[in-house]
Amino acid sequence: MLELTFLGTGTSNGIPVIGCDCEVCTSTDPRDKRTRSSAIIRDSEHDRVYLIDTATELRSQALALGLDQVDAILMTHAHADHTGGFDDLRRFNELMARHLPVYANSITAAMLEARFAYAFVDQYPFYGGKPDLTLHEVDGPFTPYEREIVPIPVFHGKLPILGYRIGPVAYVTDAKTIPDESRDLLRNLDVLVLNGLRERSHPTHLSVPEAVEIIAELQPRRAFLTHLSHELSHVEASQLLPDGVEIAYDGLSVHVSDSP
Ligand SMILES: [Zn+2]
Ligand SMILES: [Zn+2]
Ligand SMILES: [Zn+2]
Repeated sequence: MLELTFLGTGTSNGIPVIGCDCEVCTSTDPRDKRTRSSAIIRDSEHDRVYLIDTATELRSQALALGLDQVDAILMTHAHADHTGGFDDLRRFNELMARHLPVYANSITAAMLEARFAYAFVDQYPFYGGKPDLTLHEVDGPFTPYEREIVPIPVFHGKLPILGYRIGPVAYVTDAKTIPDESRDLLRNLDVLVLNGLRERSHPTHLSVPEAVEIIAELQPRRAFLTHLSHELSHVEASQLLPDGVEIAYDGLSVHVSDSP
């Protein structure tokens, strides 16, 4: 059985935005508090937790969910909102008492190595002083443990980044365009996560209407939008959606059915 949990669902600023007194930033709806985007996929059959991205608030997200296990880290890209919590991986090394594998495309891997070089060298004979990670460049399906993971190449403006699919669930964030070959990797899904920034279009992110159009083509059983800005409240964004598409919020857990 697989379960997807959203750790954070906000765009790069986080919501509320510092110094903003708009309706969304001052909303009392807890679903309008959006930390930087990240998620876990838990494979309870094999007792594995796959963490997608290390958002700025990784520590507080883990505390809020009681997360005490990470078996592998899947990086979509190296923008600051997706990597700001990278150093907090060290606690998961300590909890797991081993090195942890990080998967990324070649561009992201090079950026991670440049920015967090200390995380990829052995310095201490114990875990917890710093992240202890092994970096794996991926350009096709890989199997870190029991389940195959399929990277989904998409474009974030001009930047090639990755989404990930595990069985009937796929998580794609920060996409603007999804090539046809990648769309073919996103069919027959029980749960699809896509980014939907706001109602207006944006040069490097799908808007909510653009995401809805792609979902209509791909026909997952359920879809969730993440990486929202402060231009739409949870309630307003939800009104733009057809049946079967929902706005994600921090802490939301979704049971994934293995037979869509
Ligand atoms: Zn982002
Ligand atoms: Zn605002
Ligand atoms: Zn980004």
